[in-house]
Amino acid sequence: MTLRSVRRDISISQPALGEEEWQALREPIMSGWLTQGAKVASFEKKFAVFHEASFGLAVTSCTTGLHLALTALGVGPGDEVIVPAFTWVATANVVLQCGAKPVFVDVDRQTFNMDPTLVEEKVTKQTKAIIPVHLFGLCADIAAIRSVLPSYVHVIEDAACAAGARYHGRFAGTLGDVAVFSFHPRKIITTGEGGMITTDNHDLAALMNQLRNHGASISEEQRHLGSQPYLLPEFNLAGFNYRMTDLQGAVGLVQMERLKELISERRNWAVFYKRKLGQIPWLHQPIVEKGFEHSFQAYVCYMDERQAPFTRNEFMQLLQERGIATRPGTHAVHNLAYYRKKFMFDSADYSVARDCDLYTLAIPLHNQMTKDDYIYVVEQIMELAS
Ligand SMILES: *Cc1c(COP(=O)(O)O)cnc(C)c1O
Repeated sequence: MTLRSVRRDISISQPALGEEEWQALREPIMSGWLTQGAKVASFEKKFAVFHEASFGLAVTSCTTGLHLALTALGVGPGDEVIVPAFTWVATANVVLQCGAKPVFVDVDRQTFNMDPTLVEEKVTKQTKAIIPVHLFGLCADIAAIRSVLPSYVHVIEDAACAAGARYHGRFAGTLGDVAVFSFHPRKIITTGEGGMITTDNHDLAALMNQLRNHGASISEEQRHLGSQPYLLPEFNLAGFNYRMTDLQGAVGLVQMERLKELISERRNWAVFYKRKLGQIPWLHQPIVEKGFEHSFQAYVCYMDERQAPFTRNEFMQLLQERGIATRPGTHAVHNLAYYRKKFMFDSADYSVARDCDLYTLAIPLHNQMTKDDYIYVVEQIMELAS
């Protein structure tokens, strides 16, 4: 490694898009079929096959996908849904949107995921579902979580960050009753906004398929292909419009071609970071235990401020001054104004989640970074640490 003191500007994230995605937009635009159609269908198939799931359903975001899944599972007023306290706010918001109550559980300081040993005490007769989050691309310990759950509790994976991640040989998206991925630009592959539901449950897939399209009993595409122009679908359910556009489907298809390589590149640079930064006693690197295959949607470190020469925020500021963007890992949802007020949480509640909120930071790791960018990040951090 050679020292390069020339200042660089490195963003926290940048989507891996290019000429092929641009070209892929041509077909839907020229054909005029823009809403959910053939491109979305191919994208769903490709995504499901890759993850070894039986069904894939594209939606407008991971958030709407989670809402759809909860609705299809019958989650409503009077029900409780267990969610980790350290996650993106959407994981809890969707529970409220169903009229149900989010029940928080603290996380593990090493993995940042739901702590399986704390789940059992959260289960009540009202518990209808649990949403383990595969945070930053590391799968939650689903087997440990499942082992303490009664059979009436549905498991919904928040796999927003976890495209291509694996757990004991099985892909994220096949570990629960249903799972939802995100294609927001901060994730590994993107369609601008967008999400994908996966499940092996045929009936649940059929119900979600209907609910995402206004509750219509047949799809727009089938209807337009039909020979009976006077026919309208049955609407025996009050559904939503959570359909993905074919423009996004076309982009998603190209992104799927890249997924494997994007992840393998991320894994290699994660190893590089860990090797180079692992000696800094106050900067704990992500831990990947045996049986877990991290997809590194983000590379998130935990800072031990008691040993560090500066606070987490000062560290982030210093890196920013050197052109390196960082972000807090994610937030402790129970400490966000709305939740704190609604449920009257104490700041001491879910203390690990609170610490993760205060002491984690994501350092840049994405597929538009060059080797020199990675070397620069390491050099600057090492200099600050010395
Ligand atoms: C990004 C993210 C979401 C939300 O995904 P959208 O597609 O933006 O709705 C939900 N949960 C987690 C853990 C996320 O990281």
